Amino acid sequence: MRKIVVLGSTGSIGTQTLEVVRANGDWQVTGLAAGANVSRLEEQIREFRPRIACVFEEAAARDLAARVADLPVRVVSGMDGLVETAQEPSAELVLTAVVGMVGILPTMAAMEAGKDIALANKETLVTAGHLITALARERGVRILPVDSEHSAIFQVLHGERPNPVSRILLTASGGPFRGWNREQMRNVQVEDALKHPNWTMGRKITIDSATMVNKGLEVMEAGWLFGVPLSQVEVVVQPQSVIHSMVEFADGAVLAQLGTPDMRLPIQYALYYPERRNLSGPRLDFGALGQLTFEKPDLENFRGLALAYRAGETGGSLPTVFNAANEWAVARFLDRKLGFLEITDSIQAAMEAHRVIPHPSVEQILETEREVREFLEKSGSRKA
Ligand code: NDP
Repeated sequence: MRKIVVLGSTGSIGTQTLEVVRANGDWQVTGLAAGANVSRLEEQIREFRPRIACVFEEAAARDLAARVADLPVRVVSGMDGLVETAQEPSAELVLTAVVGMVGILPTMAAMEAGKDIALANKETLVTAGHLITALARERGVRILPVDSEHSAIFQVLHGERPNPVSRILLTASGGPFRGWNREQMRNVQVEDALKHPNWTMGRKITIDSATMVNKGLEVMEAGWLFGVPLSQVEVVVQPQSVIHSMVEFADGAVLAQLGTPDMRLPIQYALYYPERRNLSGPRLDFGALGQLTFEKPDLENFRGLALAYRAGETGGSLPTVFNAANEWAVARFLDRKLGFLEITDSIQAAMEAHRVIPHPSVEQILETEREVREFLEKSGSRKA
């Protein structure tokens, strides 16, 4: 049996990955990692019997160790534990679905250990893309996209290399506030922003979708995954979320991948690439769908997307600043300590205050993250 480690196993992507594994029955799960959700992790350990399990928080890890004392699983914690789990010796594939920059070190550790990566954790590629893509080449490991848009592009490109790509057309739903202006968004509450029109996802990415920062992160992610300049990555608003992305080739042909919004498809594609397997669930009904519509993204009211292009085109440490400021601001928005529009205001302020480091090392990336957080804490962009 092929062996897999799932980092972020208790989250939205993590649980759907385990659903895919359960349905197919031919992967053995040898490592699991979560932040603090001990009860769900215990259930997963009892079902999948991994050799190692990590809970980031130390107290929670002690709790988990006591709960699973009857099983032959090693329980670890903290960044060292996360790295050890990512390097579980028997695994050939590590699916990274932790949320945020905490994914950088374990992802790189897994690659150092020669493992292929199924990547959902886009923040890692956005902030450390130059290091991760170089490491993939050096170690001869694959980065298989899990993000639905990037999986769509990956599926479209299958069998098309080396044909020249002229544009990547990254589709976006536009989120719950599509068509709104900033004034209308000023008093948006957490509950409103958590209502995504088409997808059910973790809280952070749902807020990122409402601000369209998520699409900005995806633009940068696409640049790294497919080796194209960001001037060739275009966002197309496709409110029904049926077209998951498209590629235009040099001859003008546009190829797209379509489907219902179901993350199990890109997850399963990453696990079995290039093989396609049966997947239960609803199929597209074009008659019922009636029409597919398209719009240009609104860069004026959704500044996060414009800022992402600026960060990605500048490169160096600026994407880290963009991402770290967003992580900081989204956590505070979810805690009701910051207004909705202050998320992109915080990103902009942090980017303007930063002096770019051209080719940052991992240490410089993590240091930049700390500096951004300190800057935002001090600058007092808190809600009164
Ligand atoms: P969730 O918030 O649902 O899950 C996050 C997972 O990461 C949980 O298992 C959580 O554990 C774990 N985690 C958090 N902090 C740590 C830590 N310090 N150490 C170890 N594990 C940790 O997020 P999603 O599943 O929605 O998203 C995960 C990633 O995938 C993000 O980068 C997101 O952008 C990306 N993605 C998600 C999509 C989706 O449909 N959800 C689609 C495309 C990309 P715990 O439960 O204990 O907190």
